[in-house]
Amino acid sequence: MPSLLEVDDVTVVFGGNRALDGAGLRAEAGAVTGLIGPNGAGKSTFFDVVCGLRKPTTGRVHIGGSDVTRHGPARRARHGLARTFQRLELFGRLSVRDNLLVAAELGPHRRKAAGVVTDIIDRLELHHVADHSADELPTGTARLVEVGRAIAAKPSLILLDEPAAGLDHTETERFAALLRSLAADGAAVLLVEHDMGLVMNVCDQLFVLDLGKMIASGPPEVIRRDQAVLAAYLGEV
Ligand code: ADP
Ligand code: MG
Repeated sequence: MPSLLEVDDVTVVFGGNRALDGAGLRAEAGAVTGLIGPNGAGKSTFFDVVCGLRKPTTGRVHIGGSDVTRHGPARRARHGLARTFQRLELFGRLSVRDNLLVAAELGPHRRKAAGVVTDIIDRLELHHVADHSADELPTGTARLVEVGRAIAAKPSLILLDEPAAGLDHTETERFAALLRSLAADGAAVLLVEHDMGLVMNVCDQLFVLDLGKMIASGPPEVIRRDQAVLAAYLGEV
């Protein structure tokens, strides 16, 4: 069986700079896969390639066994892909409920969108802010809403770029449980995150990027002892 997401040999060049240099990974349905690496390693660029916002000079992207390398973001969304951005991208003047509704109406369950939104508000415990405009939310809550928006379309592949930035301890624990439950529901979750406690706790598999190359992959307990990984992070932590 192919992995839900298969990325092979991706290269992206900015000016003379190789942001990605032959990088690839696998993400399985029903699992949380972590993509980690120092600042500037190429993680967000890798996400741009997976979701079709950036064309690589080499490489292939397969989602659910289909080659989507030449497809744009909208077509990839129809293959079940959703992502969040490192920068918050909510509709500031819309309420939390309406932000979720817009996303749910883009998904395959359009006629049930209101019910999907109610489920997400329950699942993320957003009742107290459901009618607040996104502009008014503290960062931690806004992050949860953004994740809610990503899952509103019932994606089979979810890309999360530093979703826990700005979450407090309790929110982070709730968030870890949410990621596990998304995987338990059968989604492939691909997580870029700096909070190593969260990454080690929640991921089944890790891939490590450094200077555009994948330097290691494996389960968290192996990666945390990998010499190349420790060397890449020296001076960072
Ligand atoms: P990460 O998310 O791991 O911190 P990025 O993917 O944002 O890393 O960046 C990887 C490298 O590519 C960095 O050296 C960054 O400066 C460069 N880069 C990213 N986006 C652009 C861009 N639009 N134009 C030029 N260089 C970029
Ligand atoms: Mg980034």
